Amino acid sequence: MRRLWIDGQFTDGSTGDVLRIVDPATEEVVDSVPKGGPPEVDRAVAAAKRAFPAWKRLPAMARADLLVEAARRLRQGREDFALTLTRETGRTLRKNRGYVDWSALCFEYYAGLIRDRRGRVIPSAEPGQLNLVIKEPIGVVGCIVPFNYPLMLLAWKVAPALAAGNTVVIKPASQTPLLTLDLHRVFDHLPQGVVNIITGSGGEVGDALVQHPDVPCIAFTGSTAVGRQIYRLGAPRIKKLHLELGGSDAAIVCADCDLEAAVRAVAWTAFLNAGQVCTSAERIYVEASVYGEFLERLAALTSRLVVGPGMDEGTEVTPLIGSRERDQVEARVSQAIREGAKVVAGGRRPPQHARGWFYEPTVLSDARHGMSLFKEEIFGPVAPIMPFETFDEALALANDSPYGLGATLFSRDARKVRRYFEEIEVGNVWVNDPLVDNPAGPFGGMKMSGLGRELGEEGLEEFQQTKHVHWDIEGSIKPWWFPLPR
Ligand code: NAP
Repeated sequence: MRRLWIDGQFTDGSTGDVLRIVDPATEEVVDSVPKGGPPEVDRAVAAAKRAFPAWKRLPAMARADLLVEAARRLRQGREDFALTLTRETGRTLRKNRGYVDWSALCFEYYAGLIRDRRGRVIPSAEPGQLNLVIKEPIGVVGCIVPFNYPLMLLAWKVAPALAAGNTVVIKPASQTPLLTLDLHRVFDHLPQGVVNIITGSGGEVGDALVQHPDVPCIAFTGSTAVGRQIYRLGAPRIKKLHLELGGSDAAIVCADCDLEAAVRAVAWTAFLNAGQVCTSAERIYVEASVYGEFLERLAALTSRLVVGPGMDEGTEVTPLIGSRERDQVEARVSQAIREGAKVVAGGRRPPQHARGWFYEPTVLSDARHGMSLFKEEIFGPVAPIMPFETFDEALALANDSPYGLGATLFSRDARKVRRYFEEIEVGNVWVNDPLVDNPAGPFGGMKMSGLGRELGEEGLEEFQQTKHVHWDIEGSIKPWWFPLPR
């Protein structure tokens, strides 16, 4: 059994309770972890608070070197870490190896950025003065991570938070804590208490972290429902909140695009990680003149995708994270069928897998914008397709959502592309190639998809606060001050 890691020491939870971690592909228990509670939150926050002053004062060059070393350790442990990720998430080993490398890159990127970022000197308003805009760390950052990308989304928070000079307390999702607890191997060269890792339920450990008086900043990725709760809980202390929430991304397929490329890209964005990607395309609008052909080709490709465990090299679509999550996807598809959608591929549990929380990648035709599937995030391997007549109509449909995380346009017409990226109301705007990330560019959502950005310079600023220093160097008496009494 793995253990919590607080102040550089392994420890068990005070309750003695455990969380059992189950492999989504086999339904077998892989391991157990201690179920921490508020006492562990208190200890972890106290350790992070003690470590903060020295970590903050450490020159940025030295902090950067330590982050580069964390990246090296991640890469060195790639095979082991990827295997653990596959056991707990069900995701393919192949992709997980890639996610380890991407996460290492994130540490390297922020190490580079912090080496030459401290703030700026601005022109002073008065003669003889120096005006400095200084960026400083905030303190202890609570990092709360969801199940779908346990390592990468952790890196997107922890790397910039540490680079900026903060210390962290990490809480992974209860379904996927194993890799996170193994990360003591990546961080144990840092001063004690700079990184602390605790597990336990969101309602107990998560809430205690969010409400803790010594945690001024929370970086959260997860559902909009929990994000809203964190927003409420953080309000009394006016916490700095960084919220990466749910989405209901649109894909717009124009008749002028490379249709074969669009079919393959839509399958990729709808079914990668069994559709458990915040930026999966969940509303697919196809220009009416190519709707029939697109549907036929997508259905043919989808029916040939190999559904299986992440450990198998040939697997393309992996299981959902849990039985409850699969039940929800099934219920959503049934509801869509009642509302008039038709199944043209998938739409059931794969008969060849008696165990594991598999669901066939599913294409639904005859979707309508008003149906329930288009209103709320699906988070499963389901691609509902609906035709559109004009580009104006497609843009209006894509924007008609309370979410604003991402969108993809498939078109070779530069005029349409320009209109699209100016008018689309999302933070992540893809053209012809969905889901690509870049550590140097900001990722995040508009509307109910969240607050703030991860990655890029913006991702560092989330973990900094700003001071404006007005320094009158001469210290002379100013003519506008009150005169002395005569
Ligand atoms: P979730 O249920 O919201 O949980 C996310 C994390 O929050 C978990 O660690 C969870 O712990 C914790 N949590 C739950 N209740 C809490 C509370 N009251 N206070 C503090 N923390 C609490 O989300 P999920 O099912 O793991 O992940 C899927 C969601 O994440 C989807 O909506 C997806 O769109 C979103 N997501 C967004 C992005 C983005 O960048 N915008 C990226 C990936 C995923 P427990 O597991 O112990 O409950």
